[in-house]
Amino acid sequence: MKPLSPESQALVETGRRCFVPNYRPREMILDHGRGARLWDKDGNEYIDFGAGIAVSVLGHQHPALVAALTEQAHKLWHTSNVYFTEPSIRLAEELLALAPFASRAFFCNSGAEANEAAIKLARKHAADRGRAPEAREIVTFTGSFHGRTLTTVTATAQPKYQEGFEPLPGGFRYLPFNDVEAARAGITGNTCAVLVEPVQGEGGVMPAAPGFLQALRARCDEVGALLMLDEVQCGLGRTGRLFGHAWDGVAPDVVTLAKALGGGMPIGALLAAPAVAEVLGFGSHGSTFGGNPLACAAARAVLREVGSPALLAHVERQGGRLRAALTELGARHDLFSEVRGRGLMLGAVLQGAWADKATELTEHARRHGLLLLQAGPGVLRFLPPLNLTDEELDSGIARLESALESALGG
Ligand SMILES: *Cc1c(COP(=O)(O)O)cnc(C)c1O
Repeated sequence: MKPLSPESQALVETGRRCFVPNYRPREMILDHGRGARLWDKDGNEYIDFGAGIAVSVLGHQHPALVAALTEQAHKLWHTSNVYFTEPSIRLAEELLALAPFASRAFFCNSGAEANEAAIKLARKHAADRGRAPEAREIVTFTGSFHGRTLTTVTATAQPKYQEGFEPLPGGFRYLPFNDVEAARAGITGNTCAVLVEPVQGEGGVMPAAPGFLQALRARCDEVGALLMLDEVQCGLGRTGRLFGHAWDGVAPDVVTLAKALGGGMPIGALLAAPAVAEVLGFGSHGSTFGGNPLACAAARAVLREVGSPALLAHVERQGGRLRAALTELGARHDLFSEVRGRGLMLGAVLQGAWADKATELTEHARRHGLLLLQAGPGVLRFLPPLNLTDEELDSGIARLESALESALGG
């Protein structure tokens, strides 16, 4: 690995001086990418097993995405929702055609905004049916992650994201994830909605246990609450199915999407089932950038790829290969207590001396040319582009192996 050039070093220092210090980016300046590979300004090459946190689903510089974005860039960038434009209309129609549970879509710019819209929809739905504010509680689960706005961070049932930002908005209740009994008891006539990730991402790559989402659906129906699925990370092919909840066989009232949807362009979406499709009536909600033509043009190109059975089959196959390689590597080094997740959304749970050293290991991996994410201090998280080739996958695993060997040996 080549060291930082003086120019890159100066950029890193400028970044550290100029940004609010809420992030701690690694010491390199990423410059360009192709497929599942990225290069920094100093010419170092990396395999991308994080895809910018599950965003770059088709890798970098996918020809269809570049073409869609370039074509739209020469036509129209922005109008606001005061006017119709073609890319957002077509995207909505194409997305709904792939989502038989939904009949209307709302576009925004991020996962947090999509969840914010879902929360507002749930509250409005309850209000429209005459429920008092005390009976508009939203249930979320321990280990969840729903975003960083004040309300979505309140929905995020993890104290580490909330501390210091009190007073938090009211009307949220937290229940233990994958605990059917607790859900039956905790979801009551005062609950207006349940918001849940079919596979928790930031919380450690934890799939819903078999039957859990179905139990939530049944309990929601008993008390008149909406079942809202946060598929911002697990949606759009990541698990090997187009929607993460396809594994659980439930019909949601609301699904939120973002990350993968734009393939790298910022866009979020809320999909609403027919029963709640009219709740956000005229004037009730909005976003200046929502449905932006550039983002929607890119998203249409993403959908054409991730909506194809061939890509989903590819995800299942590569997911199986990655899982097998991680299981084998973990066993050889006695490193992982478990490899869990679905499709190309996998978490390797660290054990023993490395139990809380995910940050250190991801830095070792980077120095060996592999970009890797963590989910908390104890889980290595794998979210590569969904169209990852055999060569990219094998090369990534080889780099992980040499990174682990140097870390464990050193
Ligand atoms: C990333 C994420 C969000 C927040 O998305 P942003 O685009 O960062 O606002 C919400 N929910 C889940 C499940 C996520 O993984």
